[in-house]
Amino acid sequence: MNDTSILTIAVIGGGPGGYAAAFLAADLGMKVTLINEEPNPGGVCLYRGCIPSKALLHVAKLINESRHAKEWGIEFGEPKVDVARLRSWKAGVVGKLTGGLGKLASLRQIEYIQGRASFRNSNTLKIDTVAGATDIRVFDRIIIATGSRPTAIPAFNSSSPRILDSTGALALLDIPKTMLIVGGGYIGLELGTVYAALGTRVSIVEMLPGLLTGADRDLVAPLQRRMEKSFDSIMLNTTVASIKEEAQEMHVTFEGVTVKEREKIFEKVLVSVGRTPNSVIPGIQNTKVEVNARGFIQVNQHMQTCDPAIYAIGDVAGDPMLAHKAVHQGNVAAEHIAGHDVAFEPKAIPAVIFTDPEIAWCGLTETQAQKEGREIAISKFPWAASGRATTLDRTEGLTKLLFDPKTETLLGMGIVGPEAGEMIAEGVLAVEMGVTASKLKTTIHAHPTLSETVMESAELFFGQSSHFFRPKPSKAPSVEGAVK
Ligand code: FAD
Repeated sequence: MNDTSILTIAVIGGGPGGYAAAFLAADLGMKVTLINEEPNPGGVCLYRGCIPSKALLHVAKLINESRHAKEWGIEFGEPKVDVARLRSWKAGVVGKLTGGLGKLASLRQIEYIQGRASFRNSNTLKIDTVAGATDIRVFDRIIIATGSRPTAIPAFNSSSPRILDSTGALALLDIPKTMLIVGGGYIGLELGTVYAALGTRVSIVEMLPGLLTGADRDLVAPLQRRMEKSFDSIMLNTTVASIKEEAQEMHVTFEGVTVKEREKIFEKVLVSVGRTPNSVIPGIQNTKVEVNARGFIQVNQHMQTCDPAIYAIGDVAGDPMLAHKAVHQGNVAAEHIAGHDVAFEPKAIPAVIFTDPEIAWCGLTETQAQKEGREIAISKFPWAASGRATTLDRTEGLTKLLFDPKTETLLGMGIVGPEAGEMIAEGVLAVEMGVTASKLKTTIHAHPTLSETVMESAELFFGQSSHFFRPKPSKAPSVEGAVK
């Protein structure tokens, strides 16, 4: 390791990427300044993304489960929602975590500046603090971790309080009677799940033929079936032509060949059509940093930009825009600055949709393999054959493994069902370690758990599974063939 004690580092942005980079750089002996807009580190993820949404999704899960319990002979009645208290509980979760990060930064003797940074040149930043001070500072290296923001549709009057983005929806000012969600991506579906559980009649409009584009269709199908029951409507192949506010109502018109009702009225509209990287940092043109056509800062495998003194990580540095990817990129940037031989070259980055059921995948997907014309062997274990899923009364799930047909190495895993987000960790480790179908099959999984479906899916690769009968000659497994 090089002597890093003399290196001064500035990190712009205190989200999961920025604070991970700052903390590791400090642990590696560098003198670190972290400049961030909020009072504590946390970024979008902690203040207005992953954490508040998951706190509310936990509540949604409880409500949905208690409603479901009626079918098992347990009735709780309709929930009474105290929105103010729910909001303050969510704020408490955020405050606890961001406050903790603030303490961790100060324990590491990181200089935390609440403010905005802009570039003078490759090594010099202008820092405008929230207290109104301005400082010009020179650093050996600068890490850009400015993240992303909700993509706005200029044609919609986003100044109306009835048009929300994800931040506005997470603020949970009230529980509207009706809400239209524009965009069938994961953020829209997660927030739709929350509002539907709290009592809002939710509709979704998506211009593409399916929800969650990019995810395998067999994983999306069980979620869509459930949402068709809990949501008012799911309008696919449909675009929003106009949104007009009249008498405290949002009048929305739709276009598309399958559209049945051209105009509908909603109390609120949530626009959730993706996120835009925050790469337009004032003064960045005075450096050698390059931004690609999609607005992402271009980086190499060490997270170094075209300017050797500047690194970029997280949402601003490209897809997938996920907190755990940002963290790992932050670690790579800090270590590379420290002179370590590191690169960001993961085989598998997990993606989790925290809806009900959850969807999770990692590594190669079937959709991707088809696009690339890549030969794969797929093994699917339907949860109708899982003892644990039956005890939970959630047999709609599916565990799917993608193998290299020649080496029998696991290339990817996809799961739909409750706890898919927890289960996918096994897939990530297995893909990273190059685990084979035979090793997965012979790894003992505890009974009765949902994780057994991973092992049984690997058994099915060889045409063997105690709980799933597949008649010979081999034929694709089907739910009908399941024997509990
Ligand atoms: P960010 O978290 O975006 O943080 C960037 C920070 O930089 C911000 O605090 C910003 O204020 C600050 N900043 C920007 N410009 C400047 C400047 N010039 N000077 C100073 N500070 C600046 N990801 C997951 O992995 N799992 C999830 O479950 C998940 N759920 C999500 C739910 C929602 C509703 C949303 C919106 C996002 C969710 N994400 C989730 C995505 C996740 O939040 C992002 O991928 C992650 O926060 C990116 O981290 P980052 O470090 O790149 O930057």
